[in-house]
Amino acid sequence: MTANRPLRVAIVGAGPAGTYAADILSKTDLDVSIDIIERLPAPFGLVRYGVAPDHPRIKQIIVALANVLGRGDIRFLGNVNVGTDLTLQDLREHYDAVIFATGSFKDADLDIPGIDLDGSYGAADFVSWYDGHPDVPRTWPLHAKEVAVLGVGNVGLDVARILAKHVPDLLSTEIPANVQEGLEASPVTDVHIFGRRGPAQVKFTPLELRELGQVPDVDVIVYPEDYDFDEGSMAAIESHHQTKQVVKTLTDWTLREPTGASRRIHLHLLQEPVEILGEDGKVVGLRMERTALQGDGSVKGTGEYLDYEVQAVYRAVGYWGTEIDGVPFNDGKGVIRNEGGRVIDESGERVPGFYATGWIKRGPVGLIGHTKSDASETIANLVEDADALYAGTQASPEQLSPDNLLRLLKSRGVPVVEWSGWEVLDAHERALGEAAGRERVKVVPRDEMTDVALGNG
Ligand SMILES: Cc1cc2nc3c(=O)[nH]c(=O)nc-3n(C[C@H](O)[C@H](O)[C@H](O)COP(=O)(O)OP(=O)(O)OC[C@H]3O[C@@H](n4cnc5c(N)ncnc54)[C@H](O)[C@@H]3O)c2cc1C
Repeated sequence: MTANRPLRVAIVGAGPAGTYAADILSKTDLDVSIDIIERLPAPFGLVRYGVAPDHPRIKQIIVALANVLGRGDIRFLGNVNVGTDLTLQDLREHYDAVIFATGSFKDADLDIPGIDLDGSYGAADFVSWYDGHPDVPRTWPLHAKEVAVLGVGNVGLDVARILAKHVPDLLSTEIPANVQEGLEASPVTDVHIFGRRGPAQVKFTPLELRELGQVPDVDVIVYPEDYDFDEGSMAAIESHHQTKQVVKTLTDWTLREPTGASRRIHLHLLQEPVEILGEDGKVVGLRMERTALQGDGSVKGTGEYLDYEVQAVYRAVGYWGTEIDGVPFNDGKGVIRNEGGRVIDESGERVPGFYATGWIKRGPVGLIGHTKSDASETIANLVEDADALYAGTQASPEQLSPDNLLRLLKSRGVPVVEWSGWEVLDAHERALGEAAGRERVKVVPRDEMTDVALGNG
């Protein structure tokens, strides 16, 4: 079947996954008209609100994403939340197909006693704070001298590094003023990172790990008793170049003497959290159990317990996708149920017209680049389904008109930030940065972001 009109496609989420999906879809043979709908007034998802501010090279990916979104053939509709400002029924009535690229911004749970104590935090919340996410509180309680970070992935590294770094070493970055003030007042001296398994099982990437050893006036301290390699570890080291590099860096550090720096990052392995210890409702310590490798790289508790004095605990045990009401969700994995990006219901039946891509399709693991291959698969399937999408559409010709959706949003009083509005906000943030000798200073409050973008200031 052919149609004499473009296929109208909504992409929900303007992170890398949504943006790559828009780009790839726009370059197929299909005649398409694409809206990318984003709940924040700013695009780029976790590249803006997750990647650490002291990683400007990675943040540069924003330039490539902006080239796609600003090209003119894809319409950006920012500050529009699917679920409240627009319902799924609205999307069905205005589009032939919807691609959910809503990512993750919440922490996975960690079910140990004490997790709800005052001073126990999710890494994702802290990341949102230091990256200036508009929907989290402006202040962060940085009162602890000794802090634990649970988890040996790159998010754990980011959190530990930002906690330990001295503020002057962050001033060239885009951190907002409230974050600068918060970090300046932090009395932190020791940050303890903990991993359940051994050196060959940590999830750090080599570059990010090496960077930890170069933070000015911060010593990285490792403990020789945490270095054990079973058969599974040796196999991993031999077969994965990345594991070999990470293990080499960790092993090199066992030979380094502390320099007497004013702050320390301790890296503990083969220990798993048993309980966060509290007094008067507040974190005062952390009980860990020593684990032992089992031969295949897995570990088992040994019954030996170690207590650490800490006043704050950050769990960096993974992100978790958020459900959108009415879109089939796998609670066990935190993803939208799908097969190759085609959304399916609990019984495995296709949900016509609905697709998923990125972290909400695959789970919150992997780098920005991985969302490109995700998008390729989802778009290939959508293109294959094009005839069925035209035939099964619930949208009327009048509703399919792009103006119609904008009218609907305006009638609901939603202050939509289109691409031109983002450009104004972007220029404003750069100007704030220039005045302070920095590349950018982020605007944090949502109403201030929209006021600037919409020229209401
Ligand atoms: C702390 C941290 C640091 C990282 N550092 C790196 C790094 O250094 N290098 C690297 O390669 N990768 C890094 N990553 C991974 C990278 O951020 C992800 O691979 C990537 O962002 C996933 O893309 P996504 O588009 O699926 O999701 P996201 O980036 O989360 O984008 C999803 C978008 O959907 C929007 N959205 C959600 N719900 C709705 C809704 N209901 N309506 C409308 N819009 C909605 C969100 O606001 C968001 O903009 C990091 C991740 C984290 C968490």
